[in-house]
Amino acid sequence: MTKSNVGGIILLGPPASGKGTQGAMLAEHLGIPKIATGDMLRSAVAAGTELGKKAGSIMASGGLVPDEVVIGLVGERLAESDAAGGFILDGFPRTVAQAQALQSILAGRDVKIETALEIRVPRELLVERATLRRTDVRSGQIYHLKYNPPPEGVEVEHRKDDQEETVNRRLDAYEAVTSALVPFYEETGILQSVDGTGSFAEVKSRVFGALGISDGGTDAI
Ligand code: AMP
Repeated sequence: MTKSNVGGIILLGPPASGKGTQGAMLAEHLGIPKIATGDMLRSAVAAGTELGKKAGSIMASGGLVPDEVVIGLVGERLAESDAAGGFILDGFPRTVAQAQALQSILAGRDVKIETALEIRVPRELLVERATLRRTDVRSGQIYHLKYNPPPEGVEVEHRKDDQEETVNRRLDAYEAVTSALVPFYEETGILQSVDGTGSFAEVKSRVFGALGISDGGTDAI
């Protein structure tokens, strides 16, 4: 994997498995954008756009926003020049139809998906992670009240859909629908799976290993 043409990396994994945190680290390390449909939808909700009005109640209930909505968002975003050499997809695709649409979006382009990286975390840990997760309102940095508390003075918020009942519904949606992407990408030969339990540094080192990135240095990737 070289820095000039890293290609696309899909982060697969249930809510609170660490996709956002590891994805931000990877995007920074590789110098490519992280494209997170959840973040794009939350911005639309906050801005009160038509899309935000449609998506807001679905997100609050823990369900999945219709495929055509997120496919449209990702199609537009991937057409931007900063994604030409590579990108990290966090939270997309979430259905087989979205995965197929992604293949069509990228058909005929120089950049292709190199790896679908599954981050595996047992369900009981995910509920605790999500309910104790907090986000810096300004930077988007993710904290955990027990393991990685925010510094004093940082204004954080608790995502509405990180309440226990909604987290359980989101986990159900992952198990019922999104987990089908694991065999989907296994069949295309690009699936890598890592254990997502443990500290940020431990998971980072497994992620680097799975992607063939040498830990620590930036020139050997
Ligand atoms: P996330 O931040 O990835 O956990 O996404 C938050 C919520 O946004 C999800 O629970 C869904 O309601 C919605 N969402 C984000 N990405 C997608 C997607 N690819 N397909 C459908 N719904 C999505």
